Amino acid sequence: MTPFATRLFINGQFVAGQGPVETAFEPALGKPLADIASASPAQVDEAVRAAHAAYKVWSRRPPRDRSAALFAIAAAIEARADTLAEVESRNAGKPLRFVKAGELANVADVFRFFGTAVRNMPAPAAGNYRGAGRTSLVRRDPIGVIAQIAPWNYPLLMAAWKIAPAIAAGNAVVIKPSEMTPLSLLALSEIFAEILPPGVVNVVCGNGPDVGQALITHDLVRMISLTGDVRTGRAVLQAAAGPMIKRTHLELGGKAPVIVCADADLDKLVETLREASFYNAGQDCTAACRILAHRDVVQPLTDRLEAMIGALVYGRPERDDVEFGPVISARQHERVDGFVERARAEGYDVMQGAKAETEGYFFSPTLVAAPIEAEIVQKEVFGPVLSITPFDDNQQALDWANASEYGLGSSVWSQKTEVAMEIANALEYGVTWINTHGVMATEMPHGGMKNSGYGSDLSMQSLLDYTQIRHLMLG
Ligand code: NAD
Repeated sequence: MTPFATRLFINGQFVAGQGPVETAFEPALGKPLADIASASPAQVDEAVRAAHAAYKVWSRRPPRDRSAALFAIAAAIEARADTLAEVESRNAGKPLRFVKAGELANVADVFRFFGTAVRNMPAPAAGNYRGAGRTSLVRRDPIGVIAQIAPWNYPLLMAAWKIAPAIAAGNAVVIKPSEMTPLSLLALSEIFAEILPPGVVNVVCGNGPDVGQALITHDLVRMISLTGDVRTGRAVLQAAAGPMIKRTHLELGGKAPVIVCADADLDKLVETLREASFYNAGQDCTAACRILAHRDVVQPLTDRLEAMIGALVYGRPERDDVEFGPVISARQHERVDGFVERARAEGYDVMQGAKAETEGYFFSPTLVAAPIEAEIVQKEVFGPVLSITPFDDNQQALDWANASEYGLGSSVWSQKTEVAMEIANALEYGVTWINTHGVMATEMPHGGMKNSGYGSDLSMQSLLDYTQIRHLMLG
């Protein structure tokens, strides 16, 4: 393994941070992996100014040129997949085989998709809407410097979801990875350094309150794009209301309901939940984490879930049989454990799989039977924990699901298409799966409602979110 890249990436150069040192850990061992010096306020300013200068040139490059750069990035990611996957697996605790076969392939696909989309930008027809002699046409222009703030659960994939549409559209970005998982994005920056003009992508590392805040409040930033917590979303909205009004794009938390009707195919459901609930140790904003099951099927479903949880294989990420690895940090472990222990103290039934490794931040897969008002059913746990709650009729399940503060992922399980569609149509969630859960397509929009935020990642819609529509009239 080559040594980790730990320097910031500003204006095409790798530079040592001048701020405080943050330590990135290896969650499977619970040990430090690398020290990264954060960006100082002056370095954040330098990165934003570099992006501002780059934007002026990059935005004028024809879509074909920008597209070619994105395709070249995708090819380089594939060529260096082994190194990138190892860094991601060690720093984020993800099973290496899933990062290699799944997540990195998706990262490359995202760059290719936006490289294609930018050459196919839709627009209303130009025309003489105010009569002869006045011709209207629409331009879709980039916005300028975009500040992007990424989370730790999918460090590379979330960075790709943000960077690819933004630069395809002609913007320049300054992105801050999570202070816990900066290493894969710094490794990816070596590819950016080879392919992109200096300043089009800049990476500043450090914590949220200092480095993140300095970035999102910078006057030259025209838009802030965050994937993170609801609380951080509020900080972004406040920064957006500063002296220079900024656009915002928020992908926040989730608490995905899984509505199981009396006629659902329980075997298919449990097979799906094995991945949809536990992939990435449940640290996924669309994780299938709260089952609302018709009272008639609660017992057979609980029996099947217990058997599945007992058979789940989790442990060290380099093993090629594990289905998930550790949670991200000691703090996250404590947080998830707190939810489960409070549920136990309330007297709810708690079923847990066997303990895995002795070191590292591993959390046993857990099923909790609890009523709708229970904390563990209402709050985002972000760990390998599933709740099951009985309902009496489909309308009650729909009302409970829609009463949530969150509105990101959801699924409905029924073998009757008309029943499933009626519930799906009425769900206040940005993504609803019917008889499946958690499957994404790069061509399809991904985004939330309510406290899960707004704006789309992936799809043509995301590219449009990173553009400004303008009306030009020729008199
Ligand atoms: P977080 O909000 O604590 O951190 C996210 C990022 O925001 C980090 O880079 C952090 O340093 C930064 N940050 C924190 N405070 C900031 C501030 N005041 N100013 C600027 N930046 C700041 O969230 P997290 O713990 O890293 O990620 C987990 C959360 O993200 C969960 O709630 C999860 O549901 C959500 N998430 C959502 C999606 C989605 O697509 N909707 C995807 C992944 C994760």
